[in-house]
Amino acid sequence: MIEISTVRLGEEEEKLVLEVLRSGRLAQGPVVERFEAAFSAITGTADSIAVSSGTTALVAALEVLGLGAGDEVITSPFTFVATLNAILQVGATARFVDISDDDFTIDAEGLNSVITPKTKVLMPVHLYGQPADMTRICAIADKHGLAIVEDAAQAHGAAIGGRSVGSFGLGCFSFYATKNVTTGEGGMITTNDAMLADQLRLLRGQGMRSRYQYEIVGHNYRMTEIQAAIGLPQLARLPEITRRRQENAASLSEGLAGISGLRLPKTVQGRTHVFHQYTVRVTSEARIDRDKLASLLAQEGIGTGVYYPRLVFDYDCFRAHPLVAQEAMPRAEVAAREVLSLPVHHGLAAADISRIVDAVRRHLDG
Ligand SMILES: *Cc1c(COP(=O)(O)O)cnc(C)c1O
Repeated sequence: MIEISTVRLGEEEEKLVLEVLRSGRLAQGPVVERFEAAFSAITGTADSIAVSSGTTALVAALEVLGLGAGDEVITSPFTFVATLNAILQVGATARFVDISDDDFTIDAEGLNSVITPKTKVLMPVHLYGQPADMTRICAIADKHGLAIVEDAAQAHGAAIGGRSVGSFGLGCFSFYATKNVTTGEGGMITTNDAMLADQLRLLRGQGMRSRYQYEIVGHNYRMTEIQAAIGLPQLARLPEITRRRQENAASLSEGLAGISGLRLPKTVQGRTHVFHQYTVRVTSEARIDRDKLASLLAQEGIGTGVYYPRLVFDYDCFRAHPLVAQEAMPRAEVAAREVLSLPVHHGLAAADISRIVDAVRRHLDG
């Protein structure tokens, strides 16, 4: 079986986790600090604040910006549900702008027509590991005086013109089991704003500056030393992890070129795609539809994923929700019908790639 994702940890992780277990210090401490410093080195940001998950990273980012009832956040309709849940968690209203066909991220052009006087935050999602069009999104945010919260949960190490995601606003990363870097569960917020970094650190730990000195209403969003010990060695390997994913993506694209009804992922010029997912589109011109292809591949032991089968708000629990703006998103709707992610992770061997290419070609081209 070729899995759609695998967790690959080595001796360094085992050694560091054991050190932590034997140290007697399990809650946030020096290893979390080292993990944060190593993460800042990757994003080039002044600060990184480790938290318990990618979702809490998003919630804390919105909270520290003072978001609440009556405020609007604009995000992508084509994302994991955590993006939407975080907005609703702080009591803000979620509005959506359709995606661009090229990169599955929000279409910056469309933002202007969704911005209202209540809009406070633009929340692009760097989906599948490709950065959104941050140059234009930043220009629009500047013009309207809006904050940016980047959902970079899938995009560790991705960049635009050499500038890392997570450095354009408040960056929110996830270390969930399947992400390019994992701590089992975990998250990180990155920022260049020293005041926001300070407030985020307070918020993470019950609003406490020093023991029993409470400055703000806080929470427990902390990461454990064990989580940080699992993540830290992976950060040193991130360039290698990313390179292997990019090479696998290039091999898949080479092998899958020219099949009728199969659209291959595109890396937009000037952007560094870290291929959290390698996502093709099975269009209406293909011999069989997306779901049929997925089940045929599964039958021969090739795992695939559909991220995501529906628009994020297209569920009963959101449909009647007063804080979720429902609008037609034609490009995202087509994407939800057509997308299929093929294995691209750094644990694949060359023979796995050949098997995937041969199978897809046989079913679509055969
Ligand atoms: C994984 C993910 C999250 C949430 O991260 P968790 O660590 O699972 O809480 C948020 N947004 C996107 C796009 C994700 O892929």
